[in-house]
Amino acid sequence: MWLLGSGSRGNAVVLESGDTRLLVDAGFAPSILVERMRAVDIAPESIQAVVVTHEHTDHVRGVRVLCERFGWAAYATAGTITASRDLAGCGPTSFRAGDGISIGDMDILSVKSSHDAAEPVVLVVTSRSSGARTGIAYDLGIATQSVTDALRDLDMLILEANHDELMLHAGPYPASVRARISGRNGHLSNGRAGQLAREVAHRGLRQIVLAHLSEKCNTSRTALSDVNSAISRTRFSGRLSAAHQDRVVGPFEPGARRATAVQLDFAL
Ligand SMILES: [Zn+2]
Ligand SMILES: [Zn+2]
Repeated sequence: MWLLGSGSRGNAVVLESGDTRLLVDAGFAPSILVERMRAVDIAPESIQAVVVTHEHTDHVRGVRVLCERFGWAAYATAGTITASRDLAGCGPTSFRAGDGISIGDMDILSVKSSHDAAEPVVLVVTSRSSGARTGIAYDLGIATQSVTDALRDLDMLILEANHDELMLHAGPYPASVRARISGRNGHLSNGRAGQLAREVAHRGLRQIVLAHLSEKCNTSRTALSDVNSAISRTRFSGRLSAAHQDRVVGPFEPGARRATAVQLDFAL
């Protein structure tokens, strides 16, 4: 897994499993996405499909042009497709929030998220060949029970830590924007991200990558410190890191938990 960049100016995640590569969101200008993929030796032609979480520009900006240029298939919920003229123009495959879809070596479960978009989703991607499970949970105001339950038993988790509540309160936004960001359908604060991380942390979780950090109302240091203290008394022993708006971070790997579990079962 690589995060090609994450934040209000664009989001894109590359996942690789077996011989399948897919993109979750393509929210940068096409030239930027291509440049960042090439920077980590990922040929855009090697991407099979893009799955879009919701219609906001920072998630769909590059989708139409890149699907046309490289022949990627596009997948999104019916609500997302209806709300995005760009997406509708590239012949996407639609699904409903709650549905599962399969693309190559990956089985993808979608769960409706709490965000001010038509039919936004959190995704859990399971590798068929290794069993590794990766959750992508950003652009959500609160973690509903179904989102929380879907994020248990992951190997890797991309988790939104959008803002520090005090920085948001003291920040440059008008009251209406602050209310939208901190509301049920807005973005997850560091505090709420910490609560969710604590809830789903377990020994097999190898990577937590904080994402969609606000450039005005957060710092990676604050986000990492808040989430780190929230999970300090859990059994989490993996790596906690933060994505960046303007550069690629990764690759992140799930580790060998599945193989170990199989060996233990065999020994018993
Ligand atoms: Zn976003
Ligand atoms: Zn959004």
